[in-house]
Amino acid sequence: MVRISIDTDRCIGAGQCVLSSPEVFDQDEHGFVVVIADHPAGPLAESARLAGRICPSQTITVHEG
Ligand code: SF4
Repeated sequence: MVRISIDTDRCIGAGQCVLSSPEVFDQDEHGFVVVIADHPAGPLAESARLAGRICPSQTITVHEG
């Protein structure tokens, strides 16, 4: 299991996180990221890690352990 934190001030609404990890991330009505599962495990944790890597604005931090 990992813990997800986001710095919403950094989010530019690109939506890459939602495309790569739709069970963990969503976008609000303005397109900014919303975390819908803040302690994902297993394959959802892996997809959250991918989202953290590909986010163009370093909004997402995945805390291991
Ligand atoms: S990929 Fe990054 S910038 Fe784009 S919506 Fe997700 S958190 Fe925001």
